Amino acid sequence: MNASGKCHCGEISYSFKKSKLISTHHCHCKDCQRSTGSGKATILFVPKKYLELKGDLKFYELKGSSGSHIQRGFCKNCGSGILSYAKEIPHINYIKAGSLDDSSWVKVDSNFFIDSAYDWNKPDSTIKSFNKNPSIISNIKTLIKSF
Ligand SMILES: [Zn+2]
Ligand SMILES: [Zn+2]
Repeated sequence: MNASGKCHCGEISYSFKKSKLISTHHCHCKDCQRSTGSGKATILFVPKKYLELKGDLKFYELKGSSGSHIQRGFCKNCGSGILSYAKEIPHINYIKAGSLDDSSWVKVDSNFFIDSAYDWNKPDSTIKSFNKNPSIISNIKTLIKSF
């Protein structure tokens, strides 16, 4: 089964096989709050090689809360955030769940950065939580269900 998504104006679109999904997370870090304008970002970890992307994303780089260099990709026409990745682990893309055409099947595995979550957008207490992020670069294996 394929999952597909797009930006608001349709200039950027993507698809990937659901079976290639690594994991899904709510990220409450300040960077995600600012870039989404919301309490958190919900992101799907998908190997870059299994993602089919159409259109030219514009990237904005910032130093992430954990010290890695995050590239945030968005549509330069409508501004919708589509995906991001850490320069240090460029083979995994973090797709914004809200850009999926149908996100009803998404199941979130854990919360990142609950230290910076607010009462108006409380972390889901029924799933595993990390105060910051689970040292993605060194512990990436623990997040990976399948490649
Ligand atoms: Zn667009
Ligand atoms: Zn974040």
